[in-house]
Amino acid sequence: MTTIKASCAVCGDVSLTPTDVRLVVCSNETWSYYAFTCPDCTDEVRKPADEEIIALLISGGVNVQHWHIPAEALEVHTGDAISYDELLDFALWLDGHDQLTAALATTVGGAPS
Ligand SMILES: [Zn+2]
Repeated sequence: MTTIKASCAVCGDVSLTPTDVRLVVCSNETWSYYAFTCPDCTDEVRKPADEEIIALLISGGVNVQHWHIPAEALEVHTGDAISYDELLDFALWLDGHDQLTAALATTVGGAPS
């Protein structure tokens, strides 16, 4: 069986098998990573995986888990983040507007029924 050499920040070099390693390849290449539980200290070790590391781990028999980032997560947002007070104000506003919720409740498939 293939032995994979990796390093743990606490224990140094450790030997793993392909089933010990979790390889996650993301649609955004810079977010790809591999992870394993250190056999010595049992810490979860997670490191970035570039194309070379991905190819090396796959050739060693590590299974790939694909991770697709939804486009919405990569959108650029401008302006300040919504505060807790604004969210609370919105929730209180919704609570006082039964007609809006009643109108929305009668829609079917996005159109009024
Ligand atoms: Zn360790």
